[in-house]
Amino acid sequence: MNTYYQDNRDRIIKNSIKWQKENRIKCNEGVTRRRKQAMDKIFDYLGRECVLCKFNNIDALCFDHINNNGSANRKKFGHATLEYLYYSKHLEEAKEMLQVLCYNCNMIKEKERRRNI
Ligand SMILES: [Zn+2]
Repeated sequence: MNTYYQDNRDRIIKNSIKWQKENRIKCNEGVTRRRKQAMDKIFDYLGRECVLCKFNNIDALCFDHINNNGSANRKKFGHATLEYLYYSKHLEEAKEMLQVLCYNCNMIKEKERRRNI
């Protein structure tokens, strides 16, 4: 294993947190870029159109949790970006969990779900 990391773990984490605090803009840009790359990879795999109405403007498409477990899934991953990073590396799993919807269809699905609670 990497003994340098193990021997210096606390110092490395402390310096990393300090760097992130001092470079928040650069850090946020990195997160945004990695999130977009992950989402692009998932869109490439699942398709770039709404599965319900075939709308295909990428600016108004999102990932919908097929089994309405988005909230639970986000808690599991801690953040949507981490969830997308995971699914971008596990595309078969993404296909079982996510579908592409436009924002209108996603909102309609959510309203119907809430009416049926
Ligand atoms: Zn739609």
